[in-house]
Amino acid sequence: MKARCPNCQEITKTLPQSGVCPQCDQFSMDWYVYDWEGFVKNKKVLMWCDVGVFIISITSLFFCLFYSVNELILWLASLLAIPAMFSFHSGYAAVRNRQNYNGHRAKCLSSWIPF
Ligand SMILES: [Zn+2]
Repeated sequence: MKARCPNCQEITKTLPQSGVCPQCDQFSMDWYVYDWEGFVKNKKVLMWCDVGVFIISITSLFFCLFYSVNELILWLASLLAIPAMFSFHSGYAAVRNRQNYNGHRAKCLSSWIPF
C-alpha cells in the first residue's frame, strides 16, 4: 500500500512503520493512503449503502403519502433521503475525478450512516 507524506508530498511504496518520512525526515501521524483502487472499492460500497438508505426512505415516503400511514418513524425515515443523496453525489464526484486524487485519509472512507 503506497502512502503520501503530508509534509513534502513524497509518495513512498509502503507506509513507514515509524511515521518518519525517508525523504524529508519529518515525523507525521497523519499520512495519506495512496491507493486509488482501494479508495474506489470502498467508496462504491459506501455509495451502495447510500442507495439502500435512499430506497428505504423513498419507500417509507410512499407509504406515508399513498397509504396515509401516519407513523412518525416513517416520516423521519423519509428525511434520510436528503443526506443519502448528498453523500452519494460526493462519493460519485470523488470516484469520477481520478486526476484530483492525491491520497486519502481513513475518515474519507467513513459513512454518515451509523452502522
Ligand atoms: Zn516527507
